[in-house]
Amino acid sequence: MVVANQKGGVGKTTTTVNMAAALAQHGLRVLVVDLDPQGNASTALSVDHHRGTASTYDAVVDGMPLVDIVQPCPEIDGLFVVPATIDLAGAEIELVSLVAREGRLRKALHAHPWVFGEGEDRFDYVLIDCPPSLGLLTLNALVAGDEMLIPIQAEYYALEGLGQLLETVEMVKAHLNPDLEVSTIVLTMYDARTRLSAGVADEVRTHFGGQVLRTAIPRSVRISEAPSYGQTVMTYDPGSAGALSYLEAAREMALSVNGADEGAQA
Ligand code: ADP
Ligand code: MG
Repeated sequence: MVVANQKGGVGKTTTTVNMAAALAQHGLRVLVVDLDPQGNASTALSVDHHRGTASTYDAVVDGMPLVDIVQPCPEIDGLFVVPATIDLAGAEIELVSLVAREGRLRKALHAHPWVFGEGEDRFDYVLIDCPPSLGLLTLNALVAGDEMLIPIQAEYYALEGLGQLLETVEMVKAHLNPDLEVSTIVLTMYDARTRLSAGVADEVRTHFGGQVLRTAIPRSVRISEAPSYGQTVMTYDPGSAGALSYLEAAREMALSVNGADEGAQA
C-alpha cells in the first residue's frame, strides 16, 4: 500500500503511521517503509533513525537485505519499520545513475521472506510513506506496491495536483507496474463544523466514489501532538476521536481489500 500525494502537509505520514498502528491493533502484521528523507514516520514510530542506522537508503541504493534493516516498533506489537535517515535525501540523485533505478524498492521487498512469504511471519500489510514529490523515490514506491492510498486534506485546493499524480499513476501502470491501482482515498483534517470541509468531501466523493473511505479523519490536536512523544495517536490517546477514526478507517480498508486473507497488500 503506497501512501502518496506529492503535496506536502496533507497527512501522508500521519495516515501511514496511524493506519499502520490501527491495522496492527486489529491483529494484523504490518510493515512501514519510511521513504521520506525527513524520517517523520520513523520518529512517530519511535525507531532509531540517526545517521548511520541501517535504513531505506541502504536497501534502495546498496541493495542491503531488509532483514538487516527492519526494526520492531517498541510501542506496538505486530508493527515493524524500515526507517529513513537523512542519507535518503541524496538517494534521489544517486538513483539516477543506477541500473533498474525505478525497481529497486520492489526488488528489496520481494526478496524479503516476510513480505510475500507464507506462514506466521508474513506481513499482512506493507505501508510505504512517500516524500512530497514525484521523483525517483516516489516512483520506486509506485513500482513496488499494487495499491495506493491517497490522503486528501479537506481544504481549499484539495484536488490541485491530483491530476498530475493520477497521470503519473497511469504512466507507471502502462510501463512499469500494470497492477497498480488507486484503491483507497482518505479525507484528512476534516472539520465537521465547516461547510468548506463538507464541500471538499462532496467533491472528492463525486470524483472518486467508492474508493473514498466513509470514515473521514477529523482535525485533532491529539493527532498532531502524538509524534512529539514518539507515539501514534493510537497509543498516545486511544480513546480520542482521532484514534477511533483511524481504527475505523483501518477496519474499512482491511475489509474492502480483504487484507487479512489474501496475502501481503504491498
Ligand atoms: P505529509 O506527510 O503529507 O507532509 P503530515 O502527516 O506530516 O503530512 O501532516 C502535516 C501536519 O499536519 C503535521 O504537523 C501533522 O501533525 C498535522 N496533521 C496531520 N493530520 C492531522 C489531523 N487529522 N489533525 C490535526 N493535525 C494533523
Ligand atoms: Mg510526510
